[in-house]
Amino acid sequence: MITFKNVEKYYGEFHALKDINLTIETGEVVVVLGPSGSGKSTMLRCINALEEISTGELIVDGTSIFDPKTNLNNVRKNLGMVFQQFNLYANMTVLENVTLAPVKVLGLDKQEANKRAEQLLDRVGMLDKKNAMPAQLSGGQQQRVAIARSLAMTPSYMLFDEPTSALDPEMVGEVLDVMKSLAKESGMTMVVVTHEMGFAREVADRVIFMADGQILEDRESEAFFNDP
Ligand code: ADP
Ligand code: ADP
Repeated sequence: MITFKNVEKYYGEFHALKDINLTIETGEVVVVLGPSGSGKSTMLRCINALEEISTGELIVDGTSIFDPKTNLNNVRKNLGMVFQQFNLYANMTVLENVTLAPVKVLGLDKQEANKRAEQLLDRVGMLDKKNAMPAQLSGGQQQRVAIARSLAMTPSYMLFDEPTSALDPEMVGEVLDVMKSLAKESGMTMVVVTHEMGFAREVADRVIFMADGQILEDRESEAFFNDP
């Protein structure tokens, strides 16, 4: 469970998050909508402490993440993040991209990590490219590998920050399909910042609408789309 309690965020003088109160239950798929500059990305990035909050409290699985005693590495292990830019390691193969963190951070042996990586690459439809370099792949393919790489750490939460915004239109669908199957099959808790209304309508349990640093709406998806 993720809980924001009276969270405020300033960038210098600029008030980016205003009194955010929010609970995301385990297993929920939450889509965050809102105009550019409304604070969506900031809110998401606070969850894994890529941004620090100014006041309030943010609790992930019972751990207050901005408590100075908190070991952020333990919190982050459980939070996978996928960005607008795919950020794959350019000098490594697809398979090496997916096995690196499990070997280095989780201490898996190479064989075990390879096996898990191949299963995940299969799941995102990229197993046949396991020996390719990132530059040989389309944007949609790179983003699917980036999703597999995050999943290889077996996180309980997946955070997506406009995962399809940098893609050519014909590649958006293949990435959304992977995200849809993830939402439906795994019981994964997902927080997705996106402009893809179709995805929100079809997959979200809840929709949060932000504007000007505030949550204006926080409703079940059906109510959000059918009851204006
Ligand atoms: P969204 O994801 O909804 O587009 P962001 O969370 O990226 O919004 O940004 C919210 C506001 O905070 C914007 O006005 C943006 O310019 C500002 N902002 C974001 N990051 C920073 C930063 N590192 N320093 C200063 N202002 C920032
Ligand atoms: P997004 O597409 O996720 O909304 P942005 O393009 O707003 O991202 O921001 C990209 C990066 O630039 C982020 O790391 C953000 O923190 C930083 N940034 C955004 N707005 C500002 C700003 N006004 N001043 C400084 N940094 C900013």
